[in-house]
Amino acid sequence: MQMPASRIIFHIDMDSFFSSVEVRERPSLKGLPVVVGSDPKKGEGRGVVSTCSYEARKYGIHSAMPISKAYMLCPDAVFLRVNMPLYKQVSENIMLLLQRYTSVFQQVSVDEAYLDVTDIVINYTEAQELALRIKKEMYDEEGLNCSIGVAPNKVVAKIASDYQKPDGLTIVKPENVQEFLFPMEVSAIPGVGRRTREILGKMDIRTIGDMARTDVQLLVSRLGKSALKLRQMALGNYHSKVAGKTEVKSISKEDTFEEDVGDIEILRETMDRLAQQVHSRLVRHGYVFRTVNLKIRFEDFTTYTRAFSLRATSNDLSVICKVGTRMLNEFSCKKKVRLIGIGVSSLMKIDSQQTTLEDFIRGDQNENGNLIKPSK
Ligand SMILES: [Mg+2]
Repeated sequence: MQMPASRIIFHIDMDSFFSSVEVRERPSLKGLPVVVGSDPKKGEGRGVVSTCSYEARKYGIHSAMPISKAYMLCPDAVFLRVNMPLYKQVSENIMLLLQRYTSVFQQVSVDEAYLDVTDIVINYTEAQELALRIKKEMYDEEGLNCSIGVAPNKVVAKIASDYQKPDGLTIVKPENVQEFLFPMEVSAIPGVGRRTREILGKMDIRTIGDMARTDVQLLVSRLGKSALKLRQMALGNYHSKVAGKTEVKSISKEDTFEEDVGDIEILRETMDRLAQQVHSRLVRHGYVFRTVNLKIRFEDFTTYTRAFSLRATSNDLSVICKVGTRMLNEFSCKKKVRLIGIGVSSLMKIDSQQTTLEDFIRGDQNENGNLIKPSK
């Protein structure tokens, strides 16, 4: 697992992910305290807060807090149930966006990932430009903010991404690692929980610097072998590889128009152009698909997604366009369109099977229960 210390690692963490997605889907919630979690039942609810918006945090609400307490702190907050299928869908798009830059990618949760950009930037100046570009694309394409930490290893990058949340970018060059880490509380180190913190507290170790300066034998005698790793982390010298499952679950592409569009022909043309981009990525990754997804956001920000599953897999561009057009035609376009997106999912690695266009179009399978039936 140990590697030379000359890498440049990004840790990308979405800001208050669940509540930000909810606000994106319902712009009327913008600026309000939004709490995503279990039902507060007017203060009698038993669950916890999953995520909350930064506006809600001003009332002292934070994740993992009992929902009843959150209700007590701000009964007027907008309380929403966790909509995991939606967050997972957005997560897939986010992870694909991040993988545009490098395949040395590791997703660590629904809204967090590491990138090793050593091979695509030459120094920290370029790394900063790349991080800013990722943040901009994330906002332009997904309407979401993220915070990025840039550092020579994963541990420091993770601590850095948390350093200036929300919408943060913190760059810690190798020569600044210890200066950055040492004043922080030991609990900033991933893996240092309440118990470890208590043991360290009894040894008068409160900051990362305290830990780095403590004799390693003494640490091992109190914490066991894990102290070796923790001390390396405290020194900023713990280097583990960015690696993980890179399985692609869906491929999609969307576009926000400069001005809202009412003309169906322009919508079709845009959709076909996006479908071509989706298709070339599909081919490049060697996948076939079974489901075509359409996304439309109208001028009032109401957003709809539709999915249609075929009877067999395909890698045919004309199928994406044809199914997409049919789903598009199902919308009565009284309102102008702000954003259109097309994608494919239910992906499988390509095999030798080949089927004709007609085989797919008869599809009547359901996916996610929000199928649009083909019109005759
Ligand atoms: Mg997050």
